[in-house]
Amino acid sequence: AKHKGKSSYAHFAPEMTEVSHERLKMESSMRRALELKEFELYFQPIVNTNSGNLFAVEALLRWNNPAMGMVMPDRFIPLAEETGLITPIGEWVLEEACRAAMGWKQSTGKDIGISVNVSPRQFRDPGFTETVMHALSASGLAPEQLELEITERLILDNSIETAEILRQLDKAGIRLSVDDFGTGYSALSYLKSYPFDTLKIDKSFVQDVIKEPEDASLVRAIINMAHSLGLRVIAEGVEEEAQTHFLKKENCDFSQGYFYSRPLPAPDFDVWLTNNHRV
Ligand code: C2E
Ligand code: CA
Ligand code: CA
Ligand code: CA
Repeated sequence: AKHKGKSSYAHFAPEMTEVSHERLKMESSMRRALELKEFELYFQPIVNTNSGNLFAVEALLRWNNPAMGMVMPDRFIPLAEETGLITPIGEWVLEEACRAAMGWKQSTGKDIGISVNVSPRQFRDPGFTETVMHALSASGLAPEQLELEITERLILDNSIETAEILRQLDKAGIRLSVDDFGTGYSALSYLKSYPFDTLKIDKSFVQDVIKEPEDASLVRAIINMAHSLGLRVIAEGVEEEAQTHFLKKENCDFSQGYFYSRPLPAPDFDVWLTNNHRV
């Protein structure tokens, strides 16, 4: 075997080694994170645009690492995808999310749907459907209360397997939504061939509906198209009251964003729920 001394690192640009070292460190921390209970779900309400009443809740993953502090999903989900760690992490998310929704049902007496993000690699794992069904049966949550959020990126692959899994989940009564709608540059035809229930308009379109007439037109067109296909619409990233007036006028079914609430850790969400229990 070749002996690589310290000097061999000189062949790499210093930034490169730093980046890959950082990656390796993160990967090994991530491998232990489930066991060490470092993951946490935050919850963000999705409300009925007209009434402001709670409709459902999106579960958003956080990683509390002693060395790195709170790590946001955009920083670690891609690495979890690459390494395949997304499968066990995603399984934990599903179980925890269903358990939380069942808890709110018990505390409020109301059915509160839970939306869970699913990344492509997790979705393509052969055990995915089984994992979902297990999360439901273990928690006792009805399938109709679970919505899986899938990005356009996943649908782009256009494979028979993807279509088949979506059909299975739909048949089981689980709801399916297209997340980040409008960002995937994909053909719209998938909307009629796949069993989606909900379309989530990406926040990049919602952000400027008041300032930019083009964005307003796009959002209006998306809502009308979705409705004519029998899909419900959720606007993401609603931050200002003016946006809520626009969305009401355009008959956008549901809204989500900092204007209503930031994503909250479970204890804070419970408080929010008691103060906003018009469900
Ligand atoms: P996403 O599914 O599009 O989630 C919405 C993101 O927008 C969340 O960021 C949320 O905190 C943020 N947000 C909500 N309201 C507003 C608002 O009014 N203004 C703005 N500017 N942002 C708002 P977060 O929690 O950092 O999550 C980022 C992404 O990470 C998510 O985007 C989702 O794609 C992914 N993600 C989160 N949790 C999970 C998970 O459990 N599994 C997988 N596979 N992906 C996840
Ligand atoms: Ca989402
Ligand atoms: Ca369906
Ligand atoms: Ca989104």
